[in-house]
Amino acid sequence: NGCSAHGNGDNLNTSVNRWNGRHYSQRYYEILEKRKTLPVWHQKDEFLQALKANQILILVGETGSGKTTQIPQFVLEAVELETPDKRRKFMIGCTQPRRVAAMSVSRRVAEEMDVNIGDEVGYSIRFEDCTSSRTILKYLTDGMLLREAMADPLLERYKVIILDEAHERTLATDVLFGLLKEVLKNRPDLKLVVMSATLEAEKFQGYFYGAPLMKVPGRLHPVEIFYTQEPERDYLEAAIRTVMQIHQYEAPGDVLVFLTGEEEIEDACKKISKEVANMGDNYGPIKVVPLYSTLPPAMQQKIFDSAPPPLMEGGPPGRKIVVSTNIAETSLTIDGIVYVIDPGFAKQKVYNPRICVESLLVSPISKASAHQRTGRAGRTQPGKCFRLYTEKSFHNDLQPQTHPEILRSNIANTVLTLTKLGIDDLVHFDFMDPPAPETLMRALEVLNYLGALDDDGNLTKLGEIMSEFPLDPQMAKMLVISPEFNCSNEILSISAMLSIPNCFVRPREAQKAADEAKAMFAHIDGDHLTLLNVYHAYKKNNEDPSWCYENFINHRALKAADNVKQLVRNMVRYNLKLCSTDFNSRDYYNNIRKAMLAGYFMQVAHLEHAGHYLTLKDKQVVHLHPSNCLDHKPEWVIYNEFVLTSRNFIRTVTDVRGEWIIDIAPHYFDLENFPQCEARRVLEKLYKKREKEREESKNKK
Ligand code: ADP
Ligand code: MG
Repeated sequence: NGCSAHGNGDNLNTSVNRWNGRHYSQRYYEILEKRKTLPVWHQKDEFLQALKANQILILVGETGSGKTTQIPQFVLEAVELETPDKRRKFMIGCTQPRRVAAMSVSRRVAEEMDVNIGDEVGYSIRFEDCTSSRTILKYLTDGMLLREAMADPLLERYKVIILDEAHERTLATDVLFGLLKEVLKNRPDLKLVVMSATLEAEKFQGYFYGAPLMKVPGRLHPVEIFYTQEPERDYLEAAIRTVMQIHQYEAPGDVLVFLTGEEEIEDACKKISKEVANMGDNYGPIKVVPLYSTLPPAMQQKIFDSAPPPLMEGGPPGRKIVVSTNIAETSLTIDGIVYVIDPGFAKQKVYNPRICVESLLVSPISKASAHQRTGRAGRTQPGKCFRLYTEKSFHNDLQPQTHPEILRSNIANTVLTLTKLGIDDLVHFDFMDPPAPETLMRALEVLNYLGALDDDGNLTKLGEIMSEFPLDPQMAKMLVISPEFNCSNEILSISAMLSIPNCFVRPREAQKAADEAKAMFAHIDGDHLTLLNVYHAYKKNNEDPSWCYENFINHRALKAADNVKQLVRNMVRYNLKLCSTDFNSRDYYNNIRKAMLAGYFMQVAHLEHAGHYLTLKDKQVVHLHPSNCLDHKPEWVIYNEFVLTSRNFIRTVTDVRGEWIIDIAPHYFDLENFPQCEARRVLEKLYKKREKEREESKNKK
């Protein structure tokens, strides 16, 4: 072990924790032994020397080699050593594309450093800041670092920034790449470490001025790959069947199954538990653990539990079965996995710039992803990977790499952030992969319609305030404008409810009861108002978890909504009045609906004679999602979400009036450039009526 001889302030042998002056716990030493076996430990010296000699460093290593947990600690030690004045504050930031990873990893590292989470080591994710003035190592989502850059353009509080999981190529990470290149020029004392599991290393090196590349050799055992002979019709069913076969016929070892989302995962977990329970005592016990982003932290932690012991002495050994989204592909490493089941799908963002619609779709993964998934089986011993697709399909149908997110996203929000950061010339911004010109144009157009950018592309006062809200621009606009409609309190609550996962619980075995409970909250004019009713009822019932349970409301989601309400601080900071219309006034709900329209006028659909709806901006035939609470089919609706399935749905809809549309967004509903359609004829009539009214009132005067 090359580290123990290292004199670099390595006070691992003293019994006092240099970070908080307390004596190390027994647990610290236990974990330390494990840490020392991680591959990155063998290159600690090499890494520290490279860090010292370079401003930018690229580090590539297999998942599980210790990058995320160890490298930031190495950096801390090095930086501390170079900061002779102990009172001087310094901070290391390490970005993660996923919230779950930021939380989970920071907790682990706090444990490894023997400090309390939120003290020396903390995390920051949207709507949740678990750091303090003592924090010197902060794990944060890439989106949060981007937001910090808005207030602190040179990121002056950081000494070293680590961009982790760079291979994920999320939108925020890609923007940070370009941004940090600029910041580094102006801050010679700042250092950047780019870390990734796999990476097109040359591309990264080329982009980062030929920065040195350090490779951490993996410690992978061979993994045998099995394909199906025929394509599977139902990958979920096939995945469960494969788990059963492994449990019956394969040697001991834990199983990792990749599925696409919460519902599917919970469903699979239940079925697996049930089927194994039916198998009887000849087989070992299992522990089935779900993993997805909205799972509460305590539940997420369970993936690190060990497999259950045999039911009786000498009986068949137990198995842990983790059923996870892509999170387990590279973000979190679970030791002890011997079998991986890869159905070949993941939920991925897709964007159609022509119709400006971004949606999450279950789509085939890339070859690179498939390779990563396979690797998860060989961490501790030789393993097996069951690909639930044919070998032919792997070679012919899967793309080599997943496209960077920036090429499949609506980038309005990013453009607003960059403009706020003073980067006006987006066409020449140093993107590793520049977005399509059409996507960029669309984003500028949207921001112009919202009034965030003027016709020359300059940030307006309104745009400046909007950019301070960590929300999509339409929601930000709705919120910022809501005081004008005398309903900012309610709009704040609605924004919070739109920012959380679905709050209605609908268990398979109690669907009728759940639907009845939901109907109690229903507002006949719209789902947004229904959500508001839920939030108000939750508050009225003192946030009581058992009230939530009885009413089929997801308590966790509502708690998260309360967290979002910290946006109140942004409101106060910009002197946005917190106000409500009198509840007994006829205008109470109308004002709310108008304010929503003022943000979401680009998401209006019109009821056509044929009985379907047509979205106005892109003329898509859509239907109201069956989950809607309306008791009628309104002529005009605003919608929150466009859901692409076998049929196109709009989800979370609210009734709005044609008159409001022409009053609130005449610049968008400018009929001159509007194609002939039913909606246009209706709007034309409304405009004429308005004009006549104006004439009449003029004549009266
Ligand atoms: P990398 O970033 O290179 O993929 P990590 O630093 O995330 O690797 O993981 C290193 C090791 O730490 C792995 O063996 C992993 O299982 C372990 N580990 C990480 N988080 C936890 C945790 N919360 N509990 C137990 N072990 C953990
Ligand atoms: Mg990692």
